[in-house]
Amino acid sequence: MTVYLYRLCYNYLAVLGALRGIVSRILIKHNLSRSLYGDVPLSIEFMFEKDVDLKKLSNYKIGGKADYFASVGATEELIEVIKEAKEKNLDIFILGGGTNVLIGDDGFRGLVIKPNFLSLTNDGDELKVGAGVTIKDLLNFCIDNSLSGLEWAGGLPGTVGGAIFGNAGAFGGEMKDNVAKVVSVNVDEGEPKVLERNNEECKFGYRDSVFKKLAQTGKREIITEIEFDLELGEKREIETKIQEKIDYRQAKQPLEYPNIGSMFKNVKWDTLPEEVQARFLEKKKNDPFPVLPVAVLIDAAGLKGSKEGGAQVSEKHPNFIVNVDSASSADVKALVDKVQNKIKAEFGVELDREVIFL
Ligand SMILES: Cc1cc2nc3c(=O)[nH]c(=O)nc-3n(C[C@H](O)[C@H](O)[C@H](O)COP(=O)(O)OP(=O)(O)OC[C@H]3O[C@@H](n4cnc5c(N)ncnc54)[C@H](O)[C@@H]3O)c2cc1C
Repeated sequence: MTVYLYRLCYNYLAVLGALRGIVSRILIKHNLSRSLYGDVPLSIEFMFEKDVDLKKLSNYKIGGKADYFASVGATEELIEVIKEAKEKNLDIFILGGGTNVLIGDDGFRGLVIKPNFLSLTNDGDELKVGAGVTIKDLLNFCIDNSLSGLEWAGGLPGTVGGAIFGNAGAFGGEMKDNVAKVVSVNVDEGEPKVLERNNEECKFGYRDSVFKKLAQTGKREIITEIEFDLELGEKREIETKIQEKIDYRQAKQPLEYPNIGSMFKNVKWDTLPEEVQARFLEKKKNDPFPVLPVAVLIDAAGLKGSKEGGAQVSEKHPNFIVNVDSASSADVKALVDKVQNKIKAEFGVELDREVIFL
């Protein structure tokens, strides 16, 4: 019954998103987007919500308001939204499931675009997935259709687009392992248009992709669709493997508090000072190359349970900074600084952040 209701709501939202897209496309096509409201483009009035509370869209439950927000589920609509934002000189931020971003207390002065592409089609051995589909829905689809290859992602929160952007990975698997093609639309350079890349062209690396690299050089693209290469498997086996990962996460991660996953990247083993290597030799891990888990260093520095305002270094998993009591972005940043400074002072190791600060 719960599953039925969930699917009903999901389909309803997808239809609503599609209808909104159709109406805005008609307005744009017939040039009505500017005529009805004088100076104010109707497309902005219609597609851009104003003063949207980003806290509600953040897994951390932290963050202020965005001046404008647009949830976009069709390519043509996305292109128009980007053009409109550029014409209005609005800064753009792309928000997926908000599971890897710390949103500032002041919010965002500009337009937040949420890629809400929700299609999921299985044509022969080609699985095409909209970037806004959650990993959870993708995995449920894989179970229903006996598709194997993504079992490692059991319990990974967020959207497929966000996972491609950062080449998310866990339990020895990474998004890159099963990606055949990624479709995107360019934001910053030239007229927005549809681009396609094969796996090699996506330049996947450890928590890295061409999309992340481009974003770092001010040439962002919005991922809209991903094509996966999966194999037919045994339904029960696929479901069991996914459930094992979910159970592991429930047991090891502080999912009872709002969080954005691991705050810092694990430290590459060969970059560690010799005395640190000697002290923590038995904690060395291959994931996906030799690393020392940051949680080991944070624990050894006595930082478990350490607090700044409503933010706390988790007792359960010290690489998670959890929101235990209405934490602000400033609280989290203060705690991040504290951890980085102590680890540097005690072990001579610089910790790199894994999450994005907006
Ligand atoms: C409890 C928990 C456990 C986690 N475990 C793991 C783990 O095991 N492995 C791992 O790798 N990560 C993990 N994460 C981090 C996070 O879930 C992943 O990085 C996830 O893939 C981010 O997806 P998102 O949709 O939430 O992206 P967001 O957090 O919304 O965005 C992340 C970045 O991606 C960009 N982005 C999002 N969507 C798009 C798009 N369509 N096109 C272009 N850019 C886009 C955003 O601009 C932003 O820069 C965990 C997080 C939590 C909360």
